[in-house]
Amino acid sequence: MKSIEDINRKIAEKTAAVWTVSEFKKHIRASDAVTPEDVDVVTCGTFGVMSGTAAVLAFQAADAGSFTHATKLTLNGVPAHIGPCPNENNGHVDAIVYGTTGSNRPGYGGGHLFADLVAGNFVEAQIDTDTGTTTKSVRLSDMSAAKMIVTRGAFRNYMAFVNPSEKEVKTIFSVLPMKGNMIQATFSGCGEINPLENDPTLRFHTPGTAALVNGARGIILGSGTRASAAKPNLSLAVDMHRMDPNLMGGFKMMAGCECLTSVATAIPVTDDAALAALSILDENISLPVANVMNRTAFDAAIYADAWKGDRRIRTDPAKCKTSDCSRCRDLCPREAIRPDLTITKACMGCLTCISVCPDGVYSAKTGVLHTRAGDVPIVLRQSDRLRGERIALLLRDEIRSGNWRLGGI
Ligand code: SF4
Ligand code: SF4
Repeated sequence: MKSIEDINRKIAEKTAAVWTVSEFKKHIRASDAVTPEDVDVVTCGTFGVMSGTAAVLAFQAADAGSFTHATKLTLNGVPAHIGPCPNENNGHVDAIVYGTTGSNRPGYGGGHLFADLVAGNFVEAQIDTDTGTTTKSVRLSDMSAAKMIVTRGAFRNYMAFVNPSEKEVKTIFSVLPMKGNMIQATFSGCGEINPLENDPTLRFHTPGTAALVNGARGIILGSGTRASAAKPNLSLAVDMHRMDPNLMGGFKMMAGCECLTSVATAIPVTDDAALAALSILDENISLPVANVMNRTAFDAAIYADAWKGDRRIRTDPAKCKTSDCSRCRDLCPREAIRPDLTITKACMGCLTCISVCPDGVYSAKTGVLHTRAGDVPIVLRQSDRLRGERIALLLRDEIRSGNWRLGGI
């Protein structure tokens, strides 16, 4: 048995054995006899739609004394909530922006705004005040504060949704209207690499523990909203200034904009119980299957079904023959398809382009949910396992550099 302080000492001396969750699972799949002597820390990660993400932003909007108080603010057209501090007469504005708020530009919302700020882009602030309306271009580096709060993140085993009714439905869980008769499924969750899947009792996810959020170091505040013993999640806080724009962003859905967020945490391998919790595999993780209309689970698949598919899609632009068609580019939730139909690094492998293209330009092994009612092909993933693995790797390297401390307050 090792204590967290023993492991912290090894981290500081750069002698700790730190593995990513994927490296660890390879050993488990190969039935290697891993003991707490072999590994000190395992880093886990997840990336996907996390609706409970918001940012607290503060910046100098105009000269001091030019207005008494701001009444309304938009950033790149995304409405913000002024306050909670009034900032009377000092020309400064504090505001909260929700990651899921849409703007006057179709397909652009809070999640896109956060990624633009982190990428160093100027955004247009329009501020209504008691003395008139003022506009200003502002960057993250101009902001006196930019803190992200995740109120509900890294959910353990989320859900898959199907539409058992006979009619198509529009839902927040699909990019296109969801076809009836259970012939399509959408799902969220990174399965065996998710931090809480590997520590379901939150033994090592206590308040004050450090975590990477969108690539920047933040802290765990505790459990998030709607957390339960069976489905725990986390709330986190983090400064936005050191985030990576490729590990976050916006996602254009049928019912509006969603916010993409990534979280990585470190699990100390102190004893056999920690090792046992880390040994869970996709094959043993239930993926509840719910009716999209009432969100009630009535069956269960497993994450191994969901993630059996390819992480990314293939494209064959020469097959595009339909004239006056731009469906793939219009409907890609990440706006990741170029005019020549090649794909940018913004792609998160959501699979939408495969369903919308009439010419079969896009292809991938997509995964199938095995339910009691039959096999249901997956048409949309709202999580990206590749980016989940990437943030776990980032955290592994950070810990190996000696620049990390385990444990909460
Ligand atoms: S899988 Fe297709 S639709 Fe989805 S993000 Fe990538 S390019 Fe866009
Ligand atoms: S959806 Fe298919 S057919 Fe239409 S433009 Fe895109 S690649 Fe071409």
